[in-house]
Amino acid sequence: MFVSENLNVNEKGHLTIGGADTVELAEQYDTPLYVMDEQTVRSACRRFKNSIDKYYGGQGLVCYASKAFSCLEMCRIVASEGLGLDAVSIGELYTAVKAGFDVSKIGFHGNNKTNEELEFAVDNKVGHIIVDNISELLRLEEIAKYRNAKPDIMFRIKPGIDAHTHDFVKTGQIDSKFGFALETGEAFEAVKQAIACENVNLMGLHCHIGSQIFDIDPFEEAAKVMLDFIAKIKNELNYEINGLNLGGGFGIKYLNEHDPAPLETYMERVSKVVKNTCSERGINQPYIFIEPGRSIAAPAGITLYTVGARKEIPNIRTYISIDGGMADSPRYILYKSEYEAIVANKANEERTEKVTIAGKCCESGDLIGENMPLQHAESGDIIAVYATGAYNYSMSSNYNRLQKPAVVFVNNGESRIAVKRETLDDIIRNDI
Ligand SMILES: *Cc1c(COP(=O)(O)O)cnc(C)c1O
Repeated sequence: MFVSENLNVNEKGHLTIGGADTVELAEQYDTPLYVMDEQTVRSACRRFKNSIDKYYGGQGLVCYASKAFSCLEMCRIVASEGLGLDAVSIGELYTAVKAGFDVSKIGFHGNNKTNEELEFAVDNKVGHIIVDNISELLRLEEIAKYRNAKPDIMFRIKPGIDAHTHDFVKTGQIDSKFGFALETGEAFEAVKQAIACENVNLMGLHCHIGSQIFDIDPFEEAAKVMLDFIAKIKNELNYEINGLNLGGGFGIKYLNEHDPAPLETYMERVSKVVKNTCSERGINQPYIFIEPGRSIAAPAGITLYTVGARKEIPNIRTYISIDGGMADSPRYILYKSEYEAIVANKANEERTEKVTIAGKCCESGDLIGENMPLQHAESGDIIAVYATGAYNYSMSSNYNRLQKPAVVFVNNGESRIAVKRETLDDIIRNDI
């Protein structure tokens, strides 16, 4: 019935998350409301970290992909678990720095970093910069030279792997805006150029083949391809690459029928491939980075809404309209992503209907989902949408000048605000 272990029903028949009554949370903090369960975040961090210890002798770092969900509190929690962090913009870097994150454990990504971003990364001594293209390499070399610095860099590589996921979230194939292509020789030429640079240190290669991937095979395939390339660089250029960043993209359970592998399985399987390939190719086992985002944040979160209108269109569908929508939950309109939902104050009741949950924005496509099995919902009921901890708050907008909802963390039944709800004055704050 529930997509994650932090959800339950209490004696009042209310949905709980991390031991907190969601109906009470809705009353206390108002809706729409993002709720994150701290223990679920922590447990995912530990499981990934332990899997590197167990299967790869601890020779690696789990970097939380903060684009999934970033705020000061999230950075502090992830930092306290000993993880690293992957940031994709100066805003994410700034958040992590302000949260006191150990900058040496931060990797900086992006397919089109600005000079301002590169300067910020170099000035703040972030652990490594994942360089996407030659223009960036040359600009970074200049920026570093001017500062007398020599940042560690990795190259983002397109390994040419088909990851069996939605086209918009695939990133490893040759027709992608991210990274250097292997097949065309572009990546090899770029490596030569980086080795010749005096003010950057090429210490690793990176790939990230996509997102919400259930099948482990493409990850194994990607690891092999990357190690082959490391071997080629060693053999032909006599240059050793010691870091291998295998990205993130591990699928999670959005729907009851989804059945992702346990978080440990990835490292269990990929470690074997890495060890075997390294010994076959005669190269050293690299230090491994992995970058889970969704699988750390999504299962920890739910979104609470209040039902307004109920609109029954005979023989067509029933719309249940909520006080949020695409502005706080944009994944449906972007990718037709599916979610499970429940009427949080009727959590023990049967799901007697199939409904369309609609948002309040001025777009017909502004839906949470269609054909969703749900308890009978009426005005004033609280709807909880599951597994919204990733790519919801972080992708939220002020479309229709809606105020962004608050984010609350719960921990063993206690709740606290991590991000305040925007006020009307926030909406016009930058207007002149
Ligand atoms: C988005 C992204 C991730 C995280 O992906 P998830 O699907 O959230 O695990 C990791 N690495 C890179 C480079 C990314 O762009």
